[in-house]
Amino acid sequence: MISVDRGAGGATIYCMTRHNLPLAERLRMKSDRSDPDGCWPWTAASCRDGYGYLRFEGRSQLAHRLAYRIANGDFPDELKVCHTCDNPPCVNPSHLFLGTQADNTADMATKRRSTHGERSTSHLSEADVDLIHDLKARGATQRAIAARFGVNPSTVSRIVNGKRWVVKWETDHLRPL
Ligand SMILES: [Zn+2]
Repeated sequence: MISVDRGAGGATIYCMTRHNLPLAERLRMKSDRSDPDGCWPWTAASCRDGYGYLRFEGRSQLAHRLAYRIANGDFPDELKVCHTCDNPPCVNPSHLFLGTQADNTADMATKRRSTHGERSTSHLSEADVDLIHDLKARGATQRAIAARFGVNPSTVSRIVNGKRWVVKWETDHLRPL
């Protein structure tokens, strides 16, 4: 099966679906690769949520999924292709990883936390917070306390400096995710 595509400058590109090279060429033409190590934003059609797409094998497909497939081979449809750069239009394969829906949810939870300045997964209760204050008062280092509770030292720092709302916010709003 051969499909025909209009490329940059009106050149006609023949896209043979049994080979990866023409598809790779289409992806290359429709993305900005001026920074080889940076994000490669899609410059052609995109969805409302920012993901690029193009027609391939007779149907519209998400560009970042095709970019991952070209770089790494076929993968099951039910798996998600996620962005380490959190940039939906990006089709740089080195910014893409394969994950399950659960990974994707966890990834989003992590990103939501980082938006609020918190990267660690925190499961601290009010009793834990009291214990952290107690340990600190007895001379334990923030790093040692962080290791004991499995949290980021910055979390301990915020707690011992009296910013308990961070923990409260995490506990109330992030644990269900
Ligand atoms: Zn990227």
